Amino acid sequence: MPRTLITGGAGFLGSHLCDRLLDDGHEVVCMDNFLTGSSGNIAHLEKNSGFTFLERDVTEYIEIEGPLDYVLHFASPASPIDYLRLPIQTLKVGALGTHNALGLTKAKNACFLLASTSEVYGDPLEHPQNETYWGNVNPVGLRGVYDEAKRFAEALTMAYHRYHGVQTRIVRIFNTYGPRMRLNDGRALPAFMRQALCDEPVTVHGTGDQTRSFAYVDDTIEGIVRLLNSNVTSPVNIGSRDEISIMDFAKEIISLTNSKSTIIQHKLPEDDPKNRQPDTSLAQDLLGWRPRVDRIEGLQRTLAYVRQKIRQTP
Ligand code: UDP
Repeated sequence: MPRTLITGGAGFLGSHLCDRLLDDGHEVVCMDNFLTGSSGNIAHLEKNSGFTFLERDVTEYIEIEGPLDYVLHFASPASPIDYLRLPIQTLKVGALGTHNALGLTKAKNACFLLASTSEVYGDPLEHPQNETYWGNVNPVGLRGVYDEAKRFAEALTMAYHRYHGVQTRIVRIFNTYGPRMRLNDGRALPAFMRQALCDEPVTVHGTGDQTRSFAYVDDTIEGIVRLLNSNVTSPVNIGSRDEISIMDFAKEIISLTNSKSTIIQHKLPEDDPKNRQPDTSLAQDLLGWRPRVDRIEGLQRTLAYVRQKIRQTP
């Protein structure tokens, strides 16, 4: 039975990974300091004998008893309002947290997987983005804390691989959505769904011409697991190719929910990427991966979760 540490295991993606790896027969050690993660995301695993939870901050020295086969580093604020609110923690978890997680991986002779991001491409000048593109990042802009932390984390991961011979994987995760997203994390999808279901104005930033491509969480998790089980050390994009403008996305959510909401335009945040769509040829060729859940299906599943969350919130 492989034994696996997931940092940020109580977060949106981290908790889905805990579920998936437990199903795949791993023993899972989940670590989180609840900076942006939530105990509710892992409450259902409490009684699972293969699951252990440690409330720790990965930026502090990590000690884990017993062997480890895999270390998956998912700890980090990941939504724009979170990393704007927590700029120093974001830089620390990408730098010190990645260093600690890699040091632990090396000591345990394990395999390391870094949760990287499409933000390493910044506001891209190439479209779609493939893994050979070096990106267009403003290091001193508001998003720089996240983008540069993840770029540093990628560089450190490759240094451990090249210098220490540690087995490493880097996944560049594009916009992903699904159950367990925080409704107030500031991202477009949970914001639009909550606003539409409550018949409140839907807040589109700028003209809404900027594009994203949204992948359903099960597809993203499948891509990550396939990468983990491969021997690919170069970065791999995982995301949907189904690109949509944010304005059309807002209209789609209003229509899916039969909402009376109107659309209001807010100021476009600084350095907000204009277009984003991954080239996923590498994931397809090397991992045999492609998304399976189409957007309407994924949105319906997520709406069921958001409706339930709204009912639970006083
Ligand atoms: N956005 C928006 N309204 C909101 C939240 C976000 O129009 O209430 C925009 C945001 O400015 C960006 C896009 O939607 O252009 C996707 O934003 P998100 O926060 O989901 O993630 P990003 O892809 O920018 O990291």
